[in-house]
Amino acid sequence: MNFFSEPLITGATVLLTDSRFVSQPQQSIFFAIKGERHDGHNFIEELYEKGVREFVVEKKAAKPDLNERFPEAKFWLVENGIRALQNLAANHRKKFNIPVIGITGSNGKTIVKEWLSALLAKDYTIIKSPRSYNSQIGVGLSVWQMNDSHTLGIFEAGISKSGEMENLEPIISPTIGIFTNIGSAHDEGFRSRKQKVTEKLRLFRRTKTLIYCKDYEEIDEEIKLLLKAVNPEIELIGWSKSQESPINVTFTKAATYTTLAINWNAEEYEFRIPFTDDASIENATHCVFAKLLLTPKGQDLSITEEALMALKPIAMRLELKQGINDCYLIDDTYNNDYAGLNMALNFMSQHHTKNNKVLIISDLLQSGLKEVDLYRSIAELIKGKQIDQMVGIGEDISRNSRFFDVEAVFFKSTEDFLEAYPINQLHDSLILVKGARKFAFEKIVDKLIQKVHGTVFEINLDALTHNLNFYRGKVGSDTKIMVMVKAYAYGSGSAEVASLLEYHRVNYLGVAYPDEGVTLRQNGIKLPIMVLNSQPETFSKLVEYDLEPEIYSFQIFRRFLDFIRSFPDSTFKIHIKLDTGMHRLGFEEQDIDKLIEQLAQNPAIKVASIFSHLVGADESEHNDFSKSQIERFKRMSDKIIQALPKGQAPLRHICNSAGIIRFPEAKFDMVRLGIGLYGVEATGIEQKSLQTVGTLKTIISQIKHLKKGETIGYSRKGVLEKDSRIATIAIGYADGFDRGFSKGVGEVLVNGVRCPVIGNVCMDMTMVDVTEARCEEGDEVIIFGKDLPIHELAASIGTIPYEILTGVSERVKRVFYKE
Ligand SMILES: *Cc1c(COP(=O)(O)O)cnc(C)c1O
Repeated sequence: MNFFSEPLITGATVLLTDSRFVSQPQQSIFFAIKGERHDGHNFIEELYEKGVREFVVEKKAAKPDLNERFPEAKFWLVENGIRALQNLAANHRKKFNIPVIGITGSNGKTIVKEWLSALLAKDYTIIKSPRSYNSQIGVGLSVWQMNDSHTLGIFEAGISKSGEMENLEPIISPTIGIFTNIGSAHDEGFRSRKQKVTEKLRLFRRTKTLIYCKDYEEIDEEIKLLLKAVNPEIELIGWSKSQESPINVTFTKAATYTTLAINWNAEEYEFRIPFTDDASIENATHCVFAKLLLTPKGQDLSITEEALMALKPIAMRLELKQGINDCYLIDDTYNNDYAGLNMALNFMSQHHTKNNKVLIISDLLQSGLKEVDLYRSIAELIKGKQIDQMVGIGEDISRNSRFFDVEAVFFKSTEDFLEAYPINQLHDSLILVKGARKFAFEKIVDKLIQKVHGTVFEINLDALTHNLNFYRGKVGSDTKIMVMVKAYAYGSGSAEVASLLEYHRVNYLGVAYPDEGVTLRQNGIKLPIMVLNSQPETFSKLVEYDLEPEIYSFQIFRRFLDFIRSFPDSTFKIHIKLDTGMHRLGFEEQDIDKLIEQLAQNPAIKVASIFSHLVGADESEHNDFSKSQIERFKRMSDKIIQALPKGQAPLRHICNSAGIIRFPEAKFDMVRLGIGLYGVEATGIEQKSLQTVGTLKTIISQIKHLKKGETIGYSRKGVLEKDSRIATIAIGYADGFDRGFSKGVGEVLVNGVRCPVIGNVCMDMTMVDVTEARCEEGDEVIIFGKDLPIHELAASIGTIPYEILTGVSERVKRVFYKE
């Protein structure tokens, strides 16, 4: 009998919740979690084959035959997998009697955590959450990394609905709390802002000391009303900008820094921080109080001053950027610890579009482990992630080079590397640059990156995933999803988008032309790919690259059959397109008998799917017509399927993004998701459920102060009616900023203010009136994004979002990122 029940006691060191991230199977315990869209229990077999032998399974989802199928495995049978993981982590936490700082709040959690660890690095061996790993699962995995050598923990907790903090509190069990602030993010999961504050405060149920800013009245009130009631002994450090408050801070801003004057416990302190924006000042103030709290009285604080001035803004996102020689670069140069490295490597494994993977890595600081143990485990981690080449930089990693079982070179310092390594010979690779701050890896990134000139199209991969999951939820797990990645994935970058989709296990991809499919294959995409438009000259490409053509007419079918005669022993998948009302491509109803006959005569042809396209699913006025199309599709496809030999069960599909929303009853076996994935809900009904994927940005190249009566740009079309500030921005119609936006039709966003286009849009530049905006040369300008939606732009020039998206020219660099 290999079934056990809780309490869960395991010798495994790696807690695995995502089957795709397995790298040390023998040391791993897998938590099979059944969520709304995914069921971890489906991956037990795959993991067993990879060598995992310990599993946590949920009573309601586990199959009874696990025992027979996986005789060598041990199974923990639990009510709820996430809860089991949390309990395990909470029990782990109990073993350590060290100060632990728990951070929550709406914004700034990750920055406060990172800055604090920079400020305290000299005094403590710190364990902290990697990146913003603060979810129900993330907190448990973070705390699980605690070991005997750590002398301080810093963990963040994020919640999105009520009830969640209760689970996180015992895992972090903070001795010191920081409540950063309260804002409106994630309000959906809470009845009110007050309730949100109350929920977050649960983290501090047993905390000795809490640092917060009294000026957030809701926080202050709830602390006094509720927290004090359950935790009467708590020491409150509520700082305020108000001079009346016993703990007050005065901020004096200079050009490049701010001076904090602090009044606390009858002491006065003064520090400088290298920031002048309000958010950074607030975050840094929390950090200063935590630092003061942890510094014994009388200790010299001049080091703090220095450390504060050395704080840097933190890149919150993992970015995939275009590099030199067709390389892609993941730039993660803020810090380097085991957990962060693991995450960056996982991000890398989602982007397998390059066959050569290179890791450039520095020493890891502050692990708390013995050096040999640390590098042995790093080496093992790297081995599990299929890295092809590695560059190790630093004395420690060089000293431990013997552990690394990949093609590797080592350098004592970043300078040595820059001098000796042939950087320009790197090509066609995916490169992860991961270094602790003091190694200044930005110098390496600088050499590897392709310089971006002004305009970039940023693609939010988390938003893309969110949108995919939204549509998955709509169609349910029994319906397959084909994602249309034609036209460079609607402008978003086909190989990278396809790679993410493959990672998320969509079922099919769709492209318009064979060349688009070839590009995907050359980038390592293995998913089946349907091609809408193939001409006889491209048939050999289809075969060579395993692409499946749409067959829409007898003529094209005939030509395809002629072509495949030279491959007598092979079979070929095709997709039959039916014309149900679009009258573009496809067989019509009177063609069906003849089509059936031809299919019967050609057994080498396998019908992979039968499909049609709705002409007006986005507009309700066409509902009746859409329904008649669906009827006709059903009738025509039924007839074909009945005539096909038994065993051939082609997939049927008719819904595009809008169809999924409007005609859920017509989802058949598969749907074809297009624009919705990219964040535009074509019917408008569910726009709120989607997230913005693409942000097109440029910069201000120059600003001029011009007098009333002057004219701007070609043909003197922009005439100033008053004295104005005019900015030239680095985007024109050749980048995809349509000339239709000329003369005030278009607006761009400059530091939150909408500024109209003045005069005619030029090929590479545009002039905008920034009289109303606070801005200077070099500032960022948003062309479209979350706060300036694509559909608004489209409407202003009488087109549709599809055209705006696919119009972003290929010369504009794409940057892919993940929060
Ligand atoms: C482009 C395309 C789709 C996707 O349409 P959206 O409106 O973007 O969802 C679906 N099917 C076919 C045949 C297409 O050409």
